Amino acid sequence: MIKLVKPLKDIYITQYFGENKVGKGFYAKFGLSSDNHNGIDLRCRVGCLGVGTHEGIAILKESESFGKYIVLNNVKNGEGYDTIYGHLSEFLVKDGDFVKQNQPMYRTGKSGTASNGPHLHFAYRDWRGYKVADLDNGYLGSKDPSMYMDKNWDKDNAYHRYGRKREYLAEIKMRFHNQWLHKQLLKTDQLKKIYDNSFINALVYGGWGFEELMDEAFTEWRYNKKEDYKKGTIAFT
Ligand SMILES: [Zn+2]
Repeated sequence: MIKLVKPLKDIYITQYFGENKVGKGFYAKFGLSSDNHNGIDLRCRVGCLGVGTHEGIAILKESESFGKYIVLNNVKNGEGYDTIYGHLSEFLVKDGDFVKQNQPMYRTGKSGTASNGPHLHFAYRDWRGYKVADLDNGYLGSKDPSMYMDKNWDKDNAYHRYGRKREYLAEIKMRFHNQWLHKQLLKTDQLKKIYDNSFINALVYGGWGFEELMDEAFTEWRYNKKEDYKKGTIAFT
């Protein structure tokens, strides 16, 4: 049974496998007949430490589209699988090195065609008979790595920190003590703005302010604890 771990510590997925947020024809240009994304894009800063999601042999590569990238190969006698880590800024292993699961292997970046800013392109492929299997699947053999990962691996820090369950009693107390906030939340309700458990709990016990959470450009609360953010300690390390 294949079991992959998270490639990065802080998870923020900007494009899932099989999506196309870039534009019609973009992925077809790279030879993908599905014209859809053949991996998972994880937003990150340049220089975040990334790990091998399984053990294998690291093959260091460079191309126009992926920039600096690693193929982590776990194929024995022609059978197995590999994973791909694209748009890197730095290799932390040498070509041909054996890498253990969770071993730091690269720093993230925006090399190659990373038009949406720095991110990690993460992909999975099966191998059969000494070749990448299912090359005609519309994704040049790539498959969704999520099927080999923990459920909820794709949720961000805010989900793990605040999102599991809603603290209704604490929420009522907070609304009672802060009428202004209570009114804002009622208004937000009426506007049908979506706020999930993470949003509410970040307010109730996370120490974040309503305006911070409502500012769509402000995403720090999804990654950092309020006290770490105030201290200037940031996620994505
Ligand atoms: Zn990608």
